[in-house]
Formats: sequence, structure tokens, C-alpha cells
Amino acid sequence: MTMVLAVANQKGGVAKTTTVASLGAALVDLGQRVLVVDLDPQGCLTFSLGHNPDRLDKSVHEVLTGDTAAKDVLLATDDGVTLLPATIDLAGAEALLLMRPGREFTLKRALAPLLDLFDVVVIDCPPSLGVLTLNGLTAAQQVLVPLQCETLAHRGVGQLLRTVSEVQAITNPDLVLLGALPTLYDARTTHSRDVLSDVSDRYDLPVLAPPIPRTVRFAEASASGATVLVGRKNKGAAAYRELAQHLSDHWIDGSDLVTFSPFEG
Ligand code: ADP
Ligand code: MG
Repeated sequence: MTMVLAVANQKGGVAKTTTVASLGAALVDLGQRVLVVDLDPQGCLTFSLGHNPDRLDKSVHEVLTGDTAAKDVLLATDDGVTLLPATIDLAGAEALLLMRPGREFTLKRALAPLLDLFDVVVIDCPPSLGVLTLNGLTAAQQVLVPLQCETLAHRGVGQLLRTVSEVQAITNPDLVLLGALPTLYDARTTHSRDVLSDVSDRYDLPVLAPPIPRTVRFAEASASGATVLVGRKNKGAAAYRELAQHLSDHWIDGSDLVTFSPFEG
């Protein structure tokens, strides 16, 4: 069965897009057929996978608001993941969708005919809790929350968890919250650990391993249009490969997800 994973946090800059691109590429390296979906009108995922959103004439926007089939919009990427791209047009989709019955189910319905073609679908949600994110959470079986380990990281987590509960109550009863993924993690200071243990206690939220270390390589990779995994050896890429292995073991044989305890090891 195809696993559909949403990566969501309404805060910007917490590494949602980086996580989708890197995890997607790492899952391809494990032999999985991977589709990534760009749900952010900024099109950062589309751009980071080597496609210029300004030069595309069709995107997920036409799929969500018109009659275009998702399979007619898919793009291949150098990283081996298949991309359902976004363009700035998507900024208008929220307003168009609002007038439709069953608006939260639009993406789920659009992806249904594609599921046989992929083992994993990873959805990059935009930095808001609007209709697009609700579509991502409604289409998904599981949700992962990247969490930047900085002061005030917890602000907004409560609101996100309430949205997840509402989706579970109303549009997607089977949605599983996998937990928080620590990102931009600095192992040299205790600050990152303090933040993580505070958030996990406060919200009773599992923290997944491994934390993704802050590394300068990420910024370089997204600027050059290649993902962090291509031709690079660095701590961040290795962490995403490890995460991909944990998730794929969990999905294939149901083994427990490896969690991270900030004050052990
Ligand atoms: P979001 O999608 O949540 O807005 P992004 O994935 O776009 O976040 O990441 C925000 C910024 O942080 C980008 O410039 C990205 O290159 C950078 N970044 C992401 N992960 C790391 C990391 N582990 N180390 C250093 N920079 C990172
Ligand atoms: Mg993003």
C-alpha cells in the first residue's frame, strides 16, 4: 500500500521543504518509487528540485482548481523523485477552493489515480493552516512536524496539534501524528536539547531520531538547484538517510520508530 506522508508546520523556515526533498531523495536511494507534492505557492520545493516555477504552464494549481489530471503535470527530477510542482498561481487556489463543497478532499481525490505508481508520496505543506494544508493533512496517512530547535519553537505547536485533531475528527480519522523532527539542531549547545525536551513534555509529542544537524551545505545545495544528497557527503544528508531508513522499516514491517531523548546518549 502506498504511504502518504504530509510534512507540516505553519511556521516558515523550519526545514519542511528541505525535509521533503532530502527525505524523498533518500527514499529513492532505498529503492522506493517516490512522488513529492509542492503545496506551497512559493514553489521552493519545485525550484530546489531543478524546475523553475515561473516557466511552468501547469502545476498542482490546475489540478486542484480545474480539470487537469495530476498525471499530466508530473515532472521528473535529477534526484529520482517525481514532482507534482507548484507555481505562484497556487496563491489563488485557497480562495477558489473555499467556495467548493468537500474542498479539503480535493488533493486526496487528485492523488488517488496515481497511488499505484508510487510507494511513497511526501507532501510539502505551505507555512499556514489554511485550505492547502488541510488538503495535505486530509490526503495523508501520517504527518511529520519539523521543529526548529530554537527559543519559542513551541509557539504555534499547540495550534498545529489542534488542527491535526480537527482533521482527525472531521476529514481524516486515520491520520497518524508521527511526531516532531528536530531540525537545524546544534548538538554543541544544550539549548537545542532544552527546547526539545520542553516541547515534547508540554505537548506529549514523540521526538523522532535522528535530529537533523544545522550544516552550511544545505543552503548551498538549494541555491544550486540540487538536493543535499547529490554528490555530497555531509552530516545533514547522512541524518536524512538514517531517517529514511527508520521510516521505511516502520512502514514495511511495522517496527517502532526510533525516537530521540534530548538528555541521553
Ligand atoms: P520551510 O520549508 O519550513 O520554510 P526550508 O526547508 O525552506 O524551510 O528551510 C529554510 C532555510 O533553512 C533554507 O534556506 C534552507 O536551506 C535552510 N536549512 C534547512 N535545513 C537546514 C540545515 N539542516 N542546516 C542549515 N540550513 C538548513
Ligand atoms: Mg517550504
